[in-house]
Amino acid sequence: MPELPEVETTVRGLDPVLRGQRLVLIEPRRADLRRPIPPDLRQRMTGATVTGLGRRAKYGLIETDRGDTLIFHLGMSGRWRLEPDEIGAHDHLLIETASGRRLTLNDPRRFGSLDLVPTDSLAAFPPFGKLGPEPLGPDFTAPYLAAAFAGRSGPVKSLLLDQHIVAGLGNIYVCEALHQARIAPGTAGRRIRPARLERLVSAVREIIAAAIEAGGSSLRDYAQPDGELGYFFKRWRAYGREGESCGCGGRIRRRVDSGRSTFYCPRCQR
Ligand SMILES: [Zn+2]
Repeated sequence: MPELPEVETTVRGLDPVLRGQRLVLIEPRRADLRRPIPPDLRQRMTGATVTGLGRRAKYGLIETDRGDTLIFHLGMSGRWRLEPDEIGAHDHLLIETASGRRLTLNDPRRFGSLDLVPTDSLAAFPPFGKLGPEPLGPDFTAPYLAAAFAGRSGPVKSLLLDQHIVAGLGNIYVCEALHQARIAPGTAGRRIRPARLERLVSAVREIIAAAIEAGGSSLRDYAQPDGELGYFFKRWRAYGREGESCGCGGRIRRRVDSGRSTFYCPRCQR
């Protein structure tokens, strides 16, 4: 499932293909994904020039000179395909640029979304309304986390997954960050002392940045015909490693709460 680093990598991969390009063809191939695709998408975007790309939480942004921004979410299984050999049943949006590049948004499970929003009212796009700060941005700090945790009960793991507190963190990255910061996932967030919150903020930033870096180094693959944007392998220290040994001499354990796995080391995470 694509998380923030995969979306960031995808946006960086799309940037050289789309930025400055006029879109000569934009063709939705069905009426909906998780929610309806705007029926006027083709009309509003055909002939527009892409002026910039960006990301907010797990949403990718493609801005045009018509004052609109196309917002995509990759859901559980979405990815962009460059120069596909053929258009398949799961290619739900087809784009062609004036320089002849073709790409499709492919999403077999269709939990993704496509929205078109006036760029000057992006902040009013409902999914963006209550998002917390970006984990790599300047507002995600230990004092911020202390204040955000103060009024809430609950374990630190659930609090970090709460998009109102910090935007775009998913299960894998939260497990990894807590492991690196040596904080037990069940610790009450509001009881964590400032020095440990500093460690947690650093761990989140380092892990997200390293994942984006790893994605960036695999970007060359995307330039190949039929290359796929959106996923890369990562060797995790805790996630998916139940029963394996932790660097501290303990063993990684797995716990399942409401269908979600938590991987942690009971020895070094306290
Ligand atoms: Zn350990």
